[in-house]
Amino acid sequence: MKSPEAIIQLFNQKGLKITPQRRLIFELLAEDESHPAAEGLYQLVISRMPDVSRTTVYNTLRELVALGELAPVENLSEAGARFDTNTSHHHHLFCMHCQTLVDIERNFPDVELSLEEAKGYQIVKNQVTFYGVCQECQKI
Ligand SMILES: [Zn+2]
Ligand SMILES: [Zn+2]
Repeated sequence: MKSPEAIIQLFNQKGLKITPQRRLIFELLAEDESHPAAEGLYQLVISRMPDVSRTTVYNTLRELVALGELAPVENLSEAGARFDTNTSHHHHLFCMHCQTLVDIERNFPDVELSLEEAKGYQIVKNQVTFYGVCQECQKI
């Protein structure tokens, strides 16, 4: 994700409204590498600015995804989709106990499909998730 200032510029260019609430959401996301779910982000937002509506948070997330500034990560938490501020190609390490999700910045050259395996699909991206139990959770 770009810096809050760059996102504000982008929203202006697209004719999208900039409000203090949205500015706060951009700022919180810019420093968040935890792949937050919408609800978790909403809780964080209202701890700083109690009058922000859930709809504002969800709509802003949707707009950021549409602009390619956030990548949704599906099916990794009970809380629903999570949002990845790292939109470059990377993979994930997932703790099945506390649901911590960590980026892995490495290429796995074998993660490729032959034409036959792709079954006519136009492949958009690939992302590998390693499932396990993090160090903290292993102590429990
Ligand atoms: Zn854990
Ligand atoms: Zn990630």
